[in-house]
Amino acid sequence: MKVEARKKLHLGEYPTPLESMDNLTAKHGKVKLYIKRDDIAGPAFGGNKTRKLEYIMQEAVEEGYTAMLTVGGPQTNHGKTTVAAAVKLGLKPILVLGGPAPKYLSGNLTLDAMMGADIVFAGADMAGAVEATIKRYEEQGDKVYNLPAGGTGATGVAGYIMAVKEIMDQCEEQNIHPKYVVCAVGSLGTYGGLNLGVRYFNAPFQILGVPVSPKDDWAQWRKDTAKFINDMAAFYEMDIHVDGDELLINNGPADAPYSGEEYNKPDSLTRKAMFELAREEGIITDPTYTGKAFRGFLDMVDKGIIDGDAIFLHTGGATAVWTKEHLDDMQQELFDNCKISEFGK
Ligand SMILES: *Cc1c(COP(=O)(O)O)cnc(C)c1O
Repeated sequence: MKVEARKKLHLGEYPTPLESMDNLTAKHGKVKLYIKRDDIAGPAFGGNKTRKLEYIMQEAVEEGYTAMLTVGGPQTNHGKTTVAAAVKLGLKPILVLGGPAPKYLSGNLTLDAMMGADIVFAGADMAGAVEATIKRYEEQGDKVYNLPAGGTGATGVAGYIMAVKEIMDQCEEQNIHPKYVVCAVGSLGTYGGLNLGVRYFNAPFQILGVPVSPKDDWAQWRKDTAKFINDMAAFYEMDIHVDGDELLINNGPADAPYSGEEYNKPDSLTRKAMFELAREEGIITDPTYTGKAFRGFLDMVDKGIIDGDAIFLHTGGATAVWTKEHLDDMQQELFDNCKISEFGK
């Protein structure tokens, strides 16, 4: 199947804005900095999963599914956006999330609950919980679409292959000439799709990824990433092959990697970058994905690794700012750095 032939339905407003970041460009000098606002496209505060879901939901509706099940961490943005898309299209929304059930709902879990999702916490047995949940729905006559984590697979990846065409058209219209598009790298759907797109459409820019979680074996991870891209290329009949070591991925300095200590655990350097974007441009990022990637973006600009104009792809996630853990982490820094006072005292 050719990627252009793939059908999709409408969930988000595209093209998303491609804006210049004038204040940050003035502050960091050297090159022009832009931001692509995929954070504002789609239902329930959207984000990058919307582009994937336009293809996934098309397939689900076309094939007569009645329920949409997906998996992830407790605060998964992908899960939240999938629930919204399922609700809109009349499919039953089901989430199977890692770990024990919480006592208190915050962040995306609040939104999942508001939208009426069936939320199953898997404890330590994700596979078992998924299987049992699918069975429970099938027994009552539902046809359950079992969507992988991050919506990453042949269907969803079409979203970011085609996004490259959108960015190329916008660059031409706006007469801008970025050398890089920088994005967070999670389950690979976004980074992999973009890498295929630039090769397939001969884009004049490169994709530079910032991982959001540390890997035990980076060389192996690069190989796995290349394999995913090559498998997707084969699926869409593209004459494309990449090697792990030709992929642009940067995890920053060994003593303070952009990915931090672990997934979903931001550090003060991540928060510093988040606060800077918020204070210079009025744009909110999240502590788990876009904050880490944005820290990498600015650091690479300052170090000259980004040696040409660059677009930061904002993949969303800001709803995670309101998770209890992240709020608790941020309190002191915000109080210490903010102008908060009470009149008369
Ligand atoms: C899921 C997600 C990513 C990573 O995208 P992948 O396609 O999984 O690599 C980046 N940013 C945000 C906000 C996300 O929710």
